[in-house]
Amino acid sequence: MAEPQVRSMESRLPRRRAVFAWDMHYRCNFHCAYCFYTTTGWDELAKKNRYEPPEKWEEVWSRIAAEYGRCQLRVTAGEPFTYPRFAEVVARVSKLHDLQITSNLSMTEELERFAQAADPKAVELDCTFHPTGMAFDRFLANVNLLRGAGFVANVCYLAYPAQLEGMAGFKRRFAEHGVRMNLAVYWGLYEGQQYPFAYTPGQKKFLADVVGSAESPELVNLEPIPINGKVCGSGTRYAVVQADGRVYRCGQLCEPAHCLGSIFDEDFALHAQAQPCVVDYCRCKEYQSAWEEPDRDLMDRKGQVAP
Ligand code: SF4
Ligand code: SF4
Repeated sequence: MAEPQVRSMESRLPRRRAVFAWDMHYRCNFHCAYCFYTTTGWDELAKKNRYEPPEKWEEVWSRIAAEYGRCQLRVTAGEPFTYPRFAEVVARVSKLHDLQITSNLSMTEELERFAQAADPKAVELDCTFHPTGMAFDRFLANVNLLRGAGFVANVCYLAYPAQLEGMAGFKRRFAEHGVRMNLAVYWGLYEGQQYPFAYTPGQKKFLADVVGSAESPELVNLEPIPINGKVCGSGTRYAVVQADGRVYRCGQLCEPAHCLGSIFDEDFALHAQAQPCVVDYCRCKEYQSAWEEPDRDLMDRKGQVAP
């Protein structure tokens, strides 16, 4: 029998003038131990949740489209498919902007509704496999549901220390079904140790073996590179919209000093000028949206910050 072709699906979405990460609300049907929101506290975060109907989101994002043209929206939540009338929000907003949605793929009925209504030319999915929350076969079936409907749907697995052991086996099982599993390096605490700094040399080698190369964008943050005040386009070409509508320069700078206002403000605007980065490391790889293309590629391929 022929081996299945293992597919990491290339994004078909073009690079846009501006990228917004959109935390729609802080709610998820999983409460993964390694989740930033779990460690911060879901109840506290939920106080920021502001629910708006699809019509309102269409109005808000129309204003942004009028100012910046068609943008890319990176939709996260928690779990976006738990947002009320999510498929309708997607249908309306994707007429204005490209959407890249991160999901745990657990809500099969909502996924089916979404797959029938959304436009695969404007919407793509990053599917994170959480083995403590969902059986492998069900997750794979939902990846195939999306791919069968024409969507780019990639698979990611978090290199959390407690779930390293199963990683190689899951990668092989996905490959047996023609799906490439990408890896994300863990940032955070585990058993009192700060990762990724606490990965042992043996764990680092294991991760490189699973990825198939020691030099890969998947492993950039395994040896974190200090940003050293590099001028960064976050705030001018990239920003994070939180669940209450407040917009911040990037996910690591969600502080009053780096707030650009509210997405609900009629006169909301991105900054005109790029500013130096003020933190040591770009943990969530937001530089991939905020930096010029050659600088981003240098970081991805060689793990170097351009001077
Ligand atoms: S599925 Fe994602 S958002 Fe939900 S708890 Fe897990 S890591 Fe957090
Ligand atoms: S380099 Fe990363 S952390 Fe620093 S400002 Fe830019 S996006 Fe934020």
